[in-house]
Amino acid sequence: MFPIAEVVFNLPLERSFHYLIPAALENSIQRGMRVLAPFGKRERIGFVVSLVSKSPIQQLKLIRRVIDPIAVIADERWPLAVWLSEYYCCSLGEALAVMVPSALRFSSKPVLLPESAESLVLAPEPLSLNPHQKQAMEKIVYAMSKGRSQTILVHGVTASGKTELYLQAASYALSQKRSAIILIPEIALTAQTVDRFCKRFGERVMVWHSRMSIRARADSWRRMMENPCVVVGARSAVFAPVTRLGLVVIDEEHETAYKQQDLPRYHARDVAVARAREIGAVVLLGSATPSVESYYAAKKRSAGFVYLPQRIFERPMPEVEIVDMRLHLGQRRIGVLSPRLERLLQQVVDRGEQGMLLLNRRGFARVAQCKGCGAVTRCARCAVPLIFHADRQQMLCHYCNFQSSPKALCEQCKKGYVLLRGMGTERVESELHRLFPQAAIARMDRDTTLRKESHRELYEAVRTRQVGLLVGTQMIAKGLDFPEVTLVGVVSADTGLNLPDFRSGERTFDLLTQMAGRAGRGPSPGRVVIQTYCPHHYAIQAAAKHDYEKFYAEEIQMRRQLHLPPFSRLVEMTLASQSKSRVESAASRLAEELRGLFKRGVHLLGPVPHRIPRLRKVYRSCILLKSITLKPVAPVLKRVLGPNRTYHGVHVRIDVDPL
Ligand code: ADP
Ligand code: ZN
Repeated sequence: MFPIAEVVFNLPLERSFHYLIPAALENSIQRGMRVLAPFGKRERIGFVVSLVSKSPIQQLKLIRRVIDPIAVIADERWPLAVWLSEYYCCSLGEALAVMVPSALRFSSKPVLLPESAESLVLAPEPLSLNPHQKQAMEKIVYAMSKGRSQTILVHGVTASGKTELYLQAASYALSQKRSAIILIPEIALTAQTVDRFCKRFGERVMVWHSRMSIRARADSWRRMMENPCVVVGARSAVFAPVTRLGLVVIDEEHETAYKQQDLPRYHARDVAVARAREIGAVVLLGSATPSVESYYAAKKRSAGFVYLPQRIFERPMPEVEIVDMRLHLGQRRIGVLSPRLERLLQQVVDRGEQGMLLLNRRGFARVAQCKGCGAVTRCARCAVPLIFHADRQQMLCHYCNFQSSPKALCEQCKKGYVLLRGMGTERVESELHRLFPQAAIARMDRDTTLRKESHRELYEAVRTRQVGLLVGTQMIAKGLDFPEVTLVGVVSADTGLNLPDFRSGERTFDLLTQMAGRAGRGPSPGRVVIQTYCPHHYAIQAAAKHDYEKFYAEEIQMRRQLHLPPFSRLVEMTLASQSKSRVESAASRLAEELRGLFKRGVHLLGPVPHRIPRLRKVYRSCILLKSITLKPVAPVLKRVLGPNRTYHGVHVRIDVDPL
């Protein structure tokens, strides 16, 4: 008999706890179920890790009740939980908690399962593939037929038909009676891709939403565990409890949305590869601009690489021109549109075509500065300038949402006038209204898509051509497939170039390439204009030529020289406290202690102030670890920081492979 349950909790504790199982529950408790148990002064939900016959502890407390009628962590999922906790420096309980949505509740009545999906008819036929797609598909099917784990990078230019490959690979998985998980960066932004999967697979597709109703979630949880199906969803869908996983697709694998910012700070791509390895599944990493890490890995093993060099129907890539904004410096009212871009926009408006304008910055003006004393209006809580939003007539903090009303006179010197500088999407939109009063103009950014449905509505308005010119942030650079767009303008390619981040070149190249990829997707050819003050930067040059290889060659050389990923692994530690001096002293003591513990092979940088040294009145300081392998790092960090992950009373956040 095993009257004792070993339980772990969603807490930063590296240990489990024993509880007595009440006689009434003896037959219903299994490993992998959630239970409610007394913990300290309250009750907590924990996961049953094992059932044991005795415990060294004398007076055990009783389990209060069982949460689930089935094991929500099936046996085959345990190795992934262990991997997560070791790799991302979290406890087993924290790892299990991320694999099971806290809102998952099964009703006590058994749910009527829908009939086996096999009998349902599938919707539209697959497209017949072009020769490049065919070659790629053969490689994918071959890998899947072996039933062994393999990762394949699907590098294909924009509109080369990658999604069609994912659809057919998923369909092959179903024919093998295996499941497929399709990860997309964000459901709202890639509604088109979701639609294509729903149309192709009908009842056998399940869309994994974070906002699903409790009932719907429990139903689909059971269905996934019982019948092979296709799950489409964002990051957390990588943990979908599907039976017999055969395929994981990561669409736009370079996207930062795949990295979770809360604990455990996992990357869905790396979790997918780890999960596939346990179970013998194939992983497809798809992108027009693969991450440097994935490309480097794929090049080392050529079996895992397919390339689609051409657009569907051999449509040409759009022609890209770079406008050197330095030539316009000193001219009046320059800063938004160059004469060249203005003229091309005029043509689009005159011909009744569609155009898109990218500026990856929200708001109207980015800096409010006193003409007299030079003081910049800043957030009271964060170390960042406030941004002027014209639609609500407020100065806004983009980090904590602090608001204040704009002032004409400087609050510091009480004499100088405040000047607004630096533009955002609102400013571009108002400039378009001024230049093209007859055009139908819309803006898509986080401010105009606050309502749940607003993204979909804007998208429909563009699709049905009620909108002629669309202005937006990176939101409009991704996934949209509007065949009538003939002009894409990048108002400033430089917004991300000068950030203190070694990935700024890669980010800029990705954004420009993806944005350029929105033009000329239909029969009419497309044109792209990139405005920049750094026309010779390699990321901008390579993007203008649609030349990933050129970008990669420059980038990988820099990474090799500086020992940055993929030539090393990084762990970022962030210390945070309301007291500036406590953060600083804890950070330097921690850095010193770690320097003593990691001798060879692990390089320690810092402490350095965080990129935003104060956020919501909390001061932050960083320590960066650089190592060829992460193996020796996690155990040391867990030991030094102990339970609660603090150092001298200051909270330490650990981010493995930070983005
Ligand atoms: P990507 O995912 O590479 O951006 P998509 O799969 O979205 O490309 O393909 C671009 C467009 O081409 C889509 O409208 C898609 O339906 C169409 N398409 C893809 N493959 C084929 C094919 N073999 N024959 C005809 N049209 C195709
Ligand atoms: Zn703020």
